[in-house]
Amino acid sequence: MYTFVNRDESSSVYGAVAELLVARGDWRGLPRDSARFHLMLGERNKLPFGRLGHEPGLVQLVNYYRGSGSICRKTSMVKTVQSYCAAAGSDPFLWMPPSFVVCPTRFLAEDDGKAARGRLGLKLKRKDERSEFRTAAADGNGKGGVWIAKASAGAKGEDILISSDCDALLEFVDGGKQSHVLQKYIENPLLLTGNRKFDMRMWVLLDQQYNIWLFKEGVLRTSSDPYNPNDLQDLTSHLTNHCLQEAHSANYGKYEEGNEMFFQEFNRFLETEHDTTLESAVLPQVRTIIRHCLEAIRENISTAGLDYCSFQLFGFDFMLDSQLKVWLIEVNGAPACARKLLPDLAAGIVAIAVNPLFPPTTEGEVERSSTAGDIRDVFEKL
Ligand code: ADP
Ligand code: MG
Ligand code: MG
Ligand code: MG
Repeated sequence: MYTFVNRDESSSVYGAVAELLVARGDWRGLPRDSARFHLMLGERNKLPFGRLGHEPGLVQLVNYYRGSGSICRKTSMVKTVQSYCAAAGSDPFLWMPPSFVVCPTRFLAEDDGKAARGRLGLKLKRKDERSEFRTAAADGNGKGGVWIAKASAGAKGEDILISSDCDALLEFVDGGKQSHVLQKYIENPLLLTGNRKFDMRMWVLLDQQYNIWLFKEGVLRTSSDPYNPNDLQDLTSHLTNHCLQEAHSANYGKYEEGNEMFFQEFNRFLETEHDTTLESAVLPQVRTIIRHCLEAIRENISTAGLDYCSFQLFGFDFMLDSQLKVWLIEVNGAPACARKLLPDLAAGIVAIAVNPLFPPTTEGEVERSSTAGDIRDVFEKL
């Protein structure tokens, strides 16, 4: 009998995984603070990694990689991609929109004071690229276009300013409580019927051997109001976050149920309106970006050589521009999943991330897992 603890009751994905395991007959849930278990479904923040891998004779697996924040927090993502590309001698802004990390001035002043007293090393100094941002935003002739400021730990479209005014953007950051990313705004997004903007979510499973698995189904989160480049304050025309659309768009649900469009329909749109397909125009770019991002953090997060194993599900969010170029917008380390995709996603997590370490032992399950529909129908190994 295998055992697991579930320390995050709020996760729909891992709730579904836990249910699948229990239904199998060879897994049993234990109280959340138990020390001996095979699998920890841990809390998304403050996961007790230090408690893993100390049980004699027990292989332990956990559903997060320690250090994955280096790609999942907005400012960290920018720094990670910048330094990865610098090391490779390539342009960091080929698939991430030009992005700069800016720290509120008052925190920088604090850092300076500490450095002057010689108490903190330079390493602790916060990154601030406001002069690089000014240079990029001025673009030589004062026409740097529109930029978006996003708080590092922001989510759900909150703590965001879209503007073409450098000073206003920097003031917005200075008035905030954390570092922000100042990012080139994609001014020419690909628009759906009704001239509506969207972003595209894809789920990526990183297994304990650092194999990358792309879930084949993705979802577009659509705006239900027309894109309005003339009014940067018209939030529902610019921000496609589901909760924001639901709360503020009078047209929520008018075009797609729950403002969600799935790949089959999107592919039809690409065929009819753009004479192309997801597979030929979009997915090759998506695969490249995902590989780069996970390669960039590999050395820092790999559990090779540690006393426990990790896997993790990521939510990669992209935007497409009118030239069908794919841009990385953000990476989520604990993504939720569209309801209709959840059964396949959860089954895939068990098959790819759990079964290889803990093979099914109940008779029916052994047979089922050997004859079950190929996991490659649902996930693609990158
Ligand atoms: P959050 O964590 O708040 O969702 P995002 O980075 O996803 O932060 O930004 C929220 C939304 O803003 C995105 O879903 C997208 O619609 C829009 N957005 C973000 N960055 C850009 C950008 N560089 N260009 C155009 N739109 C963007
Ligand atoms: Mg987010
Ligand atoms: Mg987002
Ligand atoms: Mg509106």
